[in-house]
Formats: sequence, C-alpha cells, structure tokens
Amino acid sequence: MAEFDYDLFVIGAGSGGVRASRVSAALGARVAVAEESALGGTCVNRGCVPKKLFVHAAQFRDDFEDAAGFGWSLGSRSFYWSTLIANKDREIARLNGIYRDLLIDAGVDLIEAHARVQDAHTLEVGGRMITAAHILIATGSEPSMPNVPGIEFAMTSDQVFQLAELPRRIAIVGGGYIATEFAGIFHALGVTTTQLYRGPLFLRGFDDDVRSFLASEMRARGVDLRFAADVESIEKVAGGLRVRLANDSVLEADAILYATGRIPRTRSIGLEQAGVALDETGAVRVDRLSRSSVPSIWAIGDATHRINLTPVAIHEGICVAKTLFAGVDTPPDHTGVPSAVFSQPPIGTVGPSEAAARDLYGEIDVYRSTFRALKDTLTGREERTLMKLIVERASGRVIAAHMVGAEAGEIIQGFAVALKCGATKAQFDATLGIHPTSAEEFVTMRDPV
Ligand code: NDP
Repeated sequence: MAEFDYDLFVIGAGSGGVRASRVSAALGARVAVAEESALGGTCVNRGCVPKKLFVHAAQFRDDFEDAAGFGWSLGSRSFYWSTLIANKDREIARLNGIYRDLLIDAGVDLIEAHARVQDAHTLEVGGRMITAAHILIATGSEPSMPNVPGIEFAMTSDQVFQLAELPRRIAIVGGGYIATEFAGIFHALGVTTTQLYRGPLFLRGFDDDVRSFLASEMRARGVDLRFAADVESIEKVAGGLRVRLANDSVLEADAILYATGRIPRTRSIGLEQAGVALDETGAVRVDRLSRSSVPSIWAIGDATHRINLTPVAIHEGICVAKTLFAGVDTPPDHTGVPSAVFSQPPIGTVGPSEAAARDLYGEIDVYRSTFRALKDTLTGREERTLMKLIVERASGRVIAAHMVGAEAGEIIQGFAVALKCGATKAQFDATLGIHPTSAEEFVTMRDPV
C-alpha cells in the first residue's frame, strides 16, 4: 500500500492547477485537486475569458461606425447589457463543464471543498484528512484595494462581470492592465468613462512610447484619462457616488471600479503554520523549480507572484509535473513572455521596454513606425498604429517588439516565436511582408531612429 493517499495534491483548479493535475496524472501520478469555487479559476470566471468577450462587445462600436465609409447603412442600434451578461454566463458555465470533464477524463480526483495544509504531507479537505507525497499551491490571487474612506462603495474586477446594469458614468482607478482594459470596454459601450491613475503616465513598466501613444489614442476616443490623480475619498451622494481627488477636484459617477493590483491568495490555507515561507506580498517563496521552503510543497501561478499571466501559470504547472513525475528537473522559462493589453486600441508586446533594454543590453538600435491603417482611409478614423523594434547592436538580435493598434495581440504572438528563436534584424529584413497588412511594417522598417 502506498505511503500517501496521493502522489500530488493540488490546491486550486484554475488554469495552472488544472494543467499541473492533468499532466501529472498523464505521467502516471495519483492526483487530487481541491477547488472551493468555480472550476477554471480567475481566468475563466472573472478574468481573461469574460473580459475578452466584453472586449469583443466593445469592438462592435467601431465596426458600426466604420461601416458607413464602406457603403453600409445601418439602422438604429441598441445595446443590451443584460444580454451580454447572460450569454457570457452561459459560455462560462460551458467552460466550467469542460474543465470538470478534462479532470475526470485525466483520472484526477476532484474535491470541491476548501483545502488547508496541516503539515508537509497532510491536508484537511472538507473535514477529511488526506495525505500526499507532494502538495502544489495553485490558489491564484485576488484584487487588492487601498484603504480609502468610502472604498466600500467601489467594486473590483470580481464584481464588474456581474453588474446588474450598465452604469451611465464610471470612474476607474488604476493604471494597469485591468483598469486600462475596462476603460476601453465601458467607453465603447457608451458609458462616460474616467480613468484615474496616481502616477505621471499609466502602464508603468511598458515601453514609454507605447504608454504615451495609447494615452493619446484613448483620449482621442473620448476617455477622460487623468494622471497624477490620487483618490482621497469616495462618498455616496444623491444620484450617485462622489470621488474626491487630492487636488481638491471632485468627480461624480454611478459606479467606481478599483483595479489597483492583485495579491496572492495564500493566507487561509495553513501555509505559514506548515512552515512555508511567504514574501511580504504573501507570495509563496519558490526556487527555480517552483519548490517552496518546505521540500514537498510547491507553488505556481499568481500564488508565487512571478509573472501573473495565465499562460505562465500553465507553463509553471507543466514544469512542476515534469520535475516531479518525468524525472527531469524542469525550471520554468520566464524569458520572452509576450502579453497584450486588450485596450482600445490594444497593445501587444514582447521583450523589454526601450529603457529596460538600454539597461540590459547597453548599445541598442530602435526602429519605430507610426502609420494610419489602410482600412481607416475609408472610415475617416484618425487613429494611428505604433510599431517598434529594439535590436541589440552587437548581435543584431531583435530583443523586443511593441505594438499599439488593431490586432496587436494576434500580431505580436507570431513575432514572439521569432524572438524566442533569436531572430536577427537581418532575418526580419529578409522576410517578405504580406501585403497589404499592418503586420508587414514589422519586416519593412529599415532605418533606426
Ligand atoms: P497591475 O499591477 O497591472 O496595475 C495596478 C495599478 O494600480 C497600477 O497602475 C498601480 O500604480 C495602481 N495602484 C496600485 N496601488 C494603488 C493604490 N494604493 N492607489 C492607487 N493606485 C494604485 O494590476 P491590475 O489590477 O491591473 O492587474 C493585475 C494583474 O493581472 C496584472 O499585473 C496582470 O499580470 C494580470 N492581468 C493581465 C491581463 C492581460 O494579460 N491582458 C489582463 C488583466 C490582468 P503604480 O504603477 O503607480 O504602482
């Protein structure tokens, strides 16, 4: 009889936990996963998936407006928020079912209960004691809000997907992925939208050209984007909410969304008592193989606060499964991770910002192009597209590609492969464009700026 009930017990059936469970089971491990909420975690239920569906909903505004330039005449248009929510909920319920089937088909035991670590090999799960040779923490993260007076009137991204009604006016606090994406979504859906960011320019960490370019495009679309805007208090007033800023200005809105970062969800699962070291943000401290300070306890995804993206959590989960059950130490590769901000217009990016590239690589060449997409010659839209390549001068290697413009995420995904392969600028130049596309600009930029 085996020494433990399971070879691997995973806490959290989000993107990372589910993949780690399935791959481990496929490698012959006896695996259980505990989940106390909906299967699929933040990405499926309150993150990437419903957000992208909202982005598609928002996109129709442009499509309707642009159609006239191509000869279409559309009748009156109306938008029903309740229809979008209901259809989104139906799709998510379908995905929850798919996640369940994937686990069951892989032979993983799914336990729908809260799990708490007791010691290095024991968990209490829904009142039952269970032992495992290895425990994997894949509990993700949750929104964090600052302690501003009246913060109880604000919602987070956890609630925004279930808003009963589309507000007439919204204030969005934060300058990261979530705030910027929702500013675009609400504005396009006809909501008077103000985005408030505390610093001088939002999207800190992204390339400076990308940040300022997106800011001006969002403003041109009509988003009231305010920088150096510190919220001092929120109060309920007749007919809405009043936001008071540190500069004494006030703003009224019907709803306030706080998107001021996320913190690892690691506090109520017994980790500290079991001796698992956490950092000051609550993230599980892990080594290069994602192993915690307790050798039988591992952690992946947002719970480790490395790069908080779904594909990264999935990758880390696969790596832990291989390390444990394929007999090959497999550290996750956190280099060259592409990402997109599904703003209006979207950002696609892979590799460091220009400022970071100078620090990392010293001598670099920068290629930059802005242009008006062919489609907009007939729509009349003044919007421009930004593309930027950063090249290490010594090796000629392209180390970063940044874009703001239609389909930026789709385009950068392909170029991320080239960068992963170590493509040089000369190889970019030797690649023929697909004409007419926007993406061809990435292989036709000849002169550094
Ligand atoms: P981010 O960490 O991206 O941004 C948080 C923002 O809130 C920053 O602008 C930050 O400002 C600001 N902020 C932090 N604390 C305060 C405060 N006390 N008062 C006012 N502003 C504050 O977090 P998000 O919540 O937007 O997203 C969480 C994570 O989820 C992201 O980091 C990303 O990894 C992931 N995500 C990815 C998406 C994608 O891939 N498309 C989409 C959505 C989320 P400052 O810069 O000054 O610190």
